[in-house]
Amino acid sequence: MFYKGKNSIQMNHFFKVITLVCLLFSSLLTFGNPPNDDKFVVVLDAGHGGKDPGKVSHGYNEKDIALKIVLAIGKELEKDPKIKVVYTRKTDVFVELVERGRIANKANANLFVSVHCNAHTSSASGTETYVLGLHGNKKNFEVAKAENEVIFLEDNYETNYAGFDINAPEATINITIGQEENLSQSIEIAKMIQDKFTNTLKRKNRGVKQAAFVVLHQTIMPSVLIETGFITNTEERNFLKSTSGQSKISHAIVEAIYGYKTIIDENTGNVLISPHVPVTPVVATPEETLNTSNNAIIFKVQIASSSRDLPLKPENFNGLKTISQEKAGTIYRYFYGATNSYDRAKVLLKEAKKSSYNDAYIVAFRNGTKISVTEAIKSASN
Ligand SMILES: [Zn+2]
Repeated sequence: MFYKGKNSIQMNHFFKVITLVCLLFSSLLTFGNPPNDDKFVVVLDAGHGGKDPGKVSHGYNEKDIALKIVLAIGKELEKDPKIKVVYTRKTDVFVELVERGRIANKANANLFVSVHCNAHTSSASGTETYVLGLHGNKKNFEVAKAENEVIFLEDNYETNYAGFDINAPEATINITIGQEENLSQSIEIAKMIQDKFTNTLKRKNRGVKQAAFVVLHQTIMPSVLIETGFITNTEERNFLKSTSGQSKISHAIVEAIYGYKTIIDENTGNVLISPHVPVTPVVATPEETLNTSNNAIIFKVQIASSSRDLPLKPENFNGLKTISQEKAGTIYRYFYGATNSYDRAKVLLKEAKKSSYNDAYIVAFRNGTKISVTEAIKSASN
């Protein structure tokens, strides 16, 4: 029909339709992965399962306790339409560590939370949350080794985890730059989880730690592995196996996830640092005097985190001056600038981004302690 006669309008129309179809097709290709409708995607990973019971003590299996806690976390989070929950397992099945990572990566997750229980002598107690890293010490190595041993139950572990010697205390894992960037976020959520366990549940705090967990090595988003307590300790086992204990633990984790999500929301734009809101140009004022008295709010721009202790010279930071550093665990965080003004902080953020720190974000401190930017703005304007 289109070729009948000399109607160039019809021909034009034909090409328009073809172009449209091509455009549609290419956009389908581009957006092959659903963008999750701007939801905050949490992957919940119940440790072990199926033929791998995890630790066993007095007839209780780690795999069962971990699953119950995970399902309770998921049940609470699923009530929130802004959150999407993805599980690596919802039943008593065996899932390879590499597959757990694949599930999280495929889901474009914002956060990966793996739930486990510890085991040692009957006197050992307390909770600890791990982020990926080299084993800080022998104790961390022992915990990671025990959790990593599950790979020997997998069929293709030699190929799946090539080069990862789980028996080597000085694990030679290759932590990618992306994973290193995720570390500061992982430490952030790990700290929040430990704080909730300690302050709200009054559990003994063994702290935020780093070790080479195979499962954390598979994911490309901020990821933590929680040891919720020792099933070898009578008091902790009784707590972990009880419905009320599981519900308290899961609720504490949910609250920590919300605390973390708030910080992420503040820094990813829609709320406070929207790129559409014009930033008032502020001329750099090096003579700006920083109020460091008690309760003064100080904003900085976090530009990077690294396991390396870099000298604070401009040449190490794409030419940026006034860099400061903070050590958290074995990770160094690097900040650009320091100001009492949120408006000025937004300008500093722009400067950092111009210097290729595209993932930089604003952080706030009071009395040297990190607080949420929302809280800081409220306090600063009071
Ligand atoms: Zn485990």
